[in-house]
Amino acid sequence: MGPQVDTVSAETRFPSQADVVVIGGGIIGTSTALALAESGLSVTLCEKGHIAGEQSSRNWGWVRKARRDPREIPLIVESLRTWERLNERVGAETGFRTTGIMFAAETPEEVANYEAWLEHARPFQIDARMITSQEIDKLIPGGGEVWKTALYCASDGRAEPQRAAPAVALAARRAGAIILTDCAVRGLETTGGRVTAAVTERGRIACQSVVVAGGAWSRRFLADLGLRLPQLKVRASVMRTAPLEGPPTTAVWSRQTGFRKRLDGGYTIADGHANIAALTPDSFRFFGDFLPALRMEWSSLRLQLDGRFLQEWREAKPVPLDRPSPYEATRVLDPPPDRRTLRRSLDNLKRRFPVFAAAHVVQEWAGLIDVMPDAVPVISRVDQLQGLVIATGFSGHGFGIGPAAGRLAADLVTGARPIVDPTEFRFSRFSDGSKPRPMSGI
Ligand SMILES: Cc1cc2nc3c(=O)[nH]c(=O)nc-3n(C[C@H](O)[C@H](O)[C@H](O)COP(=O)(O)OP(=O)(O)OC[C@H]3O[C@@H](n4cnc5c(N)ncnc54)[C@H](O)[C@@H]3O)c2cc1C
Repeated sequence: MGPQVDTVSAETRFPSQADVVVIGGGIIGTSTALALAESGLSVTLCEKGHIAGEQSSRNWGWVRKARRDPREIPLIVESLRTWERLNERVGAETGFRTTGIMFAAETPEEVANYEAWLEHARPFQIDARMITSQEIDKLIPGGGEVWKTALYCASDGRAEPQRAAPAVALAARRAGAIILTDCAVRGLETTGGRVTAAVTERGRIACQSVVVAGGAWSRRFLADLGLRLPQLKVRASVMRTAPLEGPPTTAVWSRQTGFRKRLDGGYTIADGHANIAALTPDSFRFFGDFLPALRMEWSSLRLQLDGRFLQEWREAKPVPLDRPSPYEATRVLDPPPDRRTLRRSLDNLKRRFPVFAAAHVVQEWAGLIDVMPDAVPVISRVDQLQGLVIATGFSGHGFGIGPAAGRLAADLVTGARPIVDPTEFRFSRFSDGSKPRPMSGI
C-alpha cells in the first residue's frame, strides 16, 4: 500500500469545455494548474486516481541544487524561491524547510565527481562546497568518523511529498481550477494539427490546450498520438520510521543509505543505489537511446524480468476512446517495495549511527520513476501538434523542481515570457540529432 496522502475531495462539477486540460495530478500537473488558474485561464485537471497517488507522494522529499544537472540549475533556483513562499501562496503546510543536504563521499571517485560537479555549477554561484570531517561532525554527530569529506549545500531543503501536491491542488481549485479525480483522460481529439478536446472516461472536454503531466504514463499516452517519447520506468523503494529523537535534521546521501527528517518527526530512509529496472518491450525499443545512461548507471541498477513485460505489452495496444483505457485499469501504480534492500539500508545506518538504533519502521513503499535518456525532463511544446505541451520525464528529481517546472509548462501554454530558457527541455532533442545523454558523475 502506498503512503498516506492528504485528501483532495472529489468535484461535483464536470465541465464541457476549458481553456486548458492538465493530465496528471502529481506535483507537476498541480503546479501547472495553479499557475494557469492564477493567470486567469479556465483550467481542468484530470487525475485517473487520487492527487499525488504516484511518484509525487512516494519520493524522498529532497529539494536540492546539489548534484543537479547544470541544464536544470536555473529551474531549481527558481523552484527553491517558489518553495520558500509556497506555504503562504497555497495557505497550507507543504513541509518545506531549508535544512541543508549533504552528499557524503566514500570513494576517491565520488570525491572527484563532486569536485567536477562544483566546477560545472560554478557559473551559477551556488553555495554548495566540499566540507571536512570536522564540519561533517558538527552537522551529523559521529559522521566525521565515517566520512572524510562531503559535498554540502546549506540552502537546499526538503518538503513533504504526501502534503505538497494536494495543498497545491486545493489552492488551484480555490483559484478557479476544476480538479477531477478518478477521471482518466483516454486520449485527445485533434483537428487540422491542433488539439480540440480531451476525451475522459466521464465525457469530452473541448479545449485549446492540453498539458501532459502524466509521469510514468506519458510515454504511452503520447504514443497514441503518434509521438515518440523515449521514457522508461525504474522502481525505487523507500521506508519511513516513527518519530525519532536524536538524529540530525540535515539530509544525507551516501553510497550505502540516504535519510532525511520528516515534518512528523520520523525519517524517510532509502538506498539511492538500489533501483530496479523491469525489462519491458520499451527496454528493447529504446535500448539505443538509453545505452549511454545504462553504461553510467550500471552499478546502481538491477535489471529484472517480471510481470511488467506482459502487462506493458498488453497495455500498449491502442484502445478506442469510447472503451475503458489502461489508465482506468490501474488507478494508482503501486509496485512492491524491495524489502531486502531496505532492511540492508537500515542495518547499515544503525551500524554507522547508533542514534538510529531505536528506529521503528512503520511503512515501506515503492514508486516507478519516469526516466529519460539524458535524465533531464521534457517541458516543451510539440511541433507536430499545436496546443500540446509536455511536462514529464523528471527522472527521479522532479519533486524539488516541480513548482517551477509547473510554472514553465504554464508559460508555454500562455505564451508568457518563460520563467527560464526552455531550450534544454525541448521534446525535439530526441529527433533533431542531438544525441541526448546524462551528465557523468551525477
Ligand atoms: C522513490 C522515489 C524517490 C524520489 N526522490 C525524489 C527526491 O527526493 N526529490 C525529487 O525532487 N524527486 C524525487 N523523486 C522524483 C519525483 O517524485 C518525481 O520526479 C515527481 O514526483 C514527478 O511528478 P509528476 O507530476 O511528473 O509525476 P507523478 O507524481 O507520477 O504524477 C503523474 C500523475 O498522472 C496521472 N496520470 C497519468 N496518466 C493519466 C491519464 N491518462 N489520465 C489522468 N491521469 C493520468 C497519474 O495517475 C499520476 O498521478 C523520487 C521518486 C521516487 C519514486
